[in-house]
Amino acid sequence: MKILISNDDGYQSPGIAALANALQQFSEVTVIAPDRDRSGASNSLTLENPIRARQHENGFISVNGTPTDCVHVAITGLLEEEPDMVVAGINNGANMGDDVLYSGTVAAATEGRFLGLPAMAISINSFSPQHLESAARAALELVQRLSDPSLTTEMILNVNVPDLPWSEIKGYQSTRLGHRHKAEPVYKERDPRGHPIYWVGPPGAEQDAGPGTDFYAVRSGYVSVTPLKVDLTNHQQLQQTAAWLKDI
Ligand code: MN
Repeated sequence: MKILISNDDGYQSPGIAALANALQQFSEVTVIAPDRDRSGASNSLTLENPIRARQHENGFISVNGTPTDCVHVAITGLLEEEPDMVVAGINNGANMGDDVLYSGTVAAATEGRFLGLPAMAISINSFSPQHLESAARAALELVQRLSDPSLTTEMILNVNVPDLPWSEIKGYQSTRLGHRHKAEPVYKERDPRGHPIYWVGPPGAEQDAGPGTDFYAVRSGYVSVTPLKVDLTNHQQLQQTAAWLKDI
């Protein structure tokens, strides 16, 4: 089995090394990741500039682009053989609820959705994780389980792991995405010339975060596994939209 590993924290992130290390025990691994932190890049592609790939001493390949660039370029030409699946992470910080819309980690997995096996994004619930080995172990267990070719392709799993020693993790839970409140305000400052500048603020607090959600599972000490789909159509509103269009 061949696995393509990427992330949005950059090829030097400890999380991607932990993930590559774990999955190497089970499969042939190629690491292609952004050359710097591209968290929040979502599904963006670089269209106006050339994309360059550089191989490093440890075999990892860095790309001067986004997570989606990395996976797109890898599976459409850079790699000689198509991988069976993409695994993205281990991201510094959880990607739960509305975070998945902005996440480059989830985007990297999404870009691998047409390969032979389900794609997976994996994140740990801390910005300075102490227990990457727990998330790496969860990644390995899940990938071993996913290597069954009868599983549907186009399946994307969004995995979030509590930053706890493995012995304190209670197991796996399948979850739905929760929701957050509106984001916190931007930080507004002045640059040295007196012009206003803005820093994007923190995400909103958890809103829909009760039992059944990713937020709840991780808070309760479980590895949260959410199946995602890319269809953004609001099927429930199709009829209403058609009716409304008639009146124009
Ligand atoms: Mn990130």
